[in-house]
Amino acid sequence: MLKEIFVKSAMTYEYPPDGGTVPIIDPYDGCTIGCPYCFQLEDETWNTDLNVKVNISDVLQKELIQWNKEDTVYLGSKCDPYMEIERKYQLTRKCLLELSKLNLKCMVTTKAGSKLIFRDIDVIKPMGNKFTLLLGLSNLQQLSEIDDYTLMSNIQTANQLHRMGITVWVFITPILPGITDIDSMISAIDQDIPVFLDKVRLKRNTRPALRLERFIGNHYPHLIKTYKDIIYNNTDVYYEDIKEKWGKTERVKFVFESSNSTD
Ligand code: SF4
Repeated sequence: MLKEIFVKSAMTYEYPPDGGTVPIIDPYDGCTIGCPYCFQLEDETWNTDLNVKVNISDVLQKELIQWNKEDTVYLGSKCDPYMEIERKYQLTRKCLLELSKLNLKCMVTTKAGSKLIFRDIDVIKPMGNKFTLLLGLSNLQQLSEIDDYTLMSNIQTANQLHRMGITVWVFITPILPGITDIDSMISAIDQDIPVFLDKVRLKRNTRPALRLERFIGNHYPHLIKTYKDIIYNNTDVYYEDIKEKWGKTERVKFVFESSNSTD
């Protein structure tokens, strides 16, 4: 259920396992993109409602008075800042305006594929190198509809923005064996856009693992053994092949060189 809520603080913080503190702005709490592998699903309370933080930019404006200009702010962790609802509420745009007024560094994460980001080009472009778009390509809806990756909405967005001088990093995270054709995908992305790759890393019997397994069973039944091997045995031959092929290409980065996802 959609709920309009008023928040007391705009910024939240995440503490990744490798250390550090990540300041995050989520204009919405909940996401309509529906990635079955989404790690936020580990929290059973997440996405039961779609909370719209209607006053977030006003609160943010006050919080940013004290903000250290050297610290990067991330937009989008418990939501996709450019999912369809943003068309109506424009909260992402309002938060970007507050960040741009103070010339602060920010990174925006999206895989929505809505092209809505072009609406905000008047805000983003003047931010120059303070703005980076982290564009996810593992959008299963787009992947299921596309054969020619040059026509994939998010790849087109990445290339168009890049050609407009916006800093874009592309994320194929996770690589979905049998679904994502990495070679074609990387070839379709402009040559100097960095590409980050990661394998499926889900702890067995968690909600995202079970949801991904169910999704694959329903939509790609011929791949179910491959995915069970990945989830339950941490066996990902596909990823190892990709590492072998792309590991020496400078613009291709591997997010996690080694990990054990099944503990
Ligand atoms: S877009 Fe991001 S937040 Fe939304 S479901 Fe997908 S992974 Fe989760």
